[in-house]
Amino acid sequence: MQESDSYESIESSDDDHDEVKPYKRDYCDIFLERMLSVVTVVLLILSNYLVYQFFLRRWFKEDRKFYLMIRGIELDNTGTCLFIFYQIFFFLAIISYFKASLSDPGLMKNLEPPVGLLEDSLINFCQKCEDKKWKPQRAHHCKICQKCVFRMDHHCRWINNCVGLKNQKYFILFLVHCEIYCILIIIYLIFSAVLLYQNTPKLFMLFIGITWKHIVAILFIILSALFIFLINEFLSDQYDCIKTNQTTVESFKKKFGRPHSFFNQLQIVFGQDQFYWLIPTKPKYSCNYLELLYKAEELVETLQSNSDFIEDHFNDQQSEYYQSFRKYRVS
Ligand SMILES: [Zn+2]
Ligand SMILES: [Zn+2]
Repeated sequence: MQESDSYESIESSDDDHDEVKPYKRDYCDIFLERMLSVVTVVLLILSNYLVYQFFLRRWFKEDRKFYLMIRGIELDNTGTCLFIFYQIFFFLAIISYFKASLSDPGLMKNLEPPVGLLEDSLINFCQKCEDKKWKPQRAHHCKICQKCVFRMDHHCRWINNCVGLKNQKYFILFLVHCEIYCILIIIYLIFSAVLLYQNTPKLFMLFIGITWKHIVAILFIILSALFIFLINEFLSDQYDCIKTNQTTVESFKKKFGRPHSFFNQLQIVFGQDQFYWLIPTKPKYSCNYLELLYKAEELVETLQSNSDFIEDHFNDQQSEYYQSFRKYRVS
């Protein structure tokens, strides 16, 4: 049996290192990780308040109090619609963030090694986990979490958790909802500035009337634009990985999972039911711990020779090994 690969983070790999070197986080690392989470949530809440105060309450205020779920929201019908619209994305982003951060990314449990189902050369045991348990080909050891994670994509300091098969949907949804929310902040605040300009008789009065609140609003527009740029980078990486059935960790090894259509790939990450794709609900997984990794040339060879991939037998009910394969399904 070979020693398995391990990764400290998405940037580094120690494929060639035989020595077991546990990664130790110092207090500074832990403090920074905690702060990143706190800052993200505080910024989301602060921007929500800012949009309400600067845009909605200022330009869509009505004497008649609209008692939504929160008492004291004084908005006309347009303001109420705009309020509900951006709150939807705010809550979806917050829920996705906490789910990505707190849920199990796909930590490997003690599973029997699939002796007899896979060739011995394909069965590895993790030398870095304390109990040296079976490590599927598509599981990777995270040096920060000190555990093996199935289909580990990367360890994300932003959510202070690994991103693996089981929380990848929440991670991507956090990015998507956060991006839409940031776009809305920019549109609302810029629209507010345009209305302010139209309602100011002389331009110089606009500059005289500038307060610290306006400066904060401008800072939030810049911050939201920066967030959008950052999120687009992450989303583009996630798109590439989903398209090629590869995690970020596997992309460093230049290895791929068995190819599927893009739609099937989306189903693997977001679940079978498309209705729930944009909602942070737990997806129904269609993966198997016995999935293998292939080099690009091996994929081409198998596809050109019209041979079956081993994975194709996992779901074949006629196969004599079907019941044995079933117990390796991700649930
Ligand atoms: Zn491990
Ligand atoms: Zn991790």
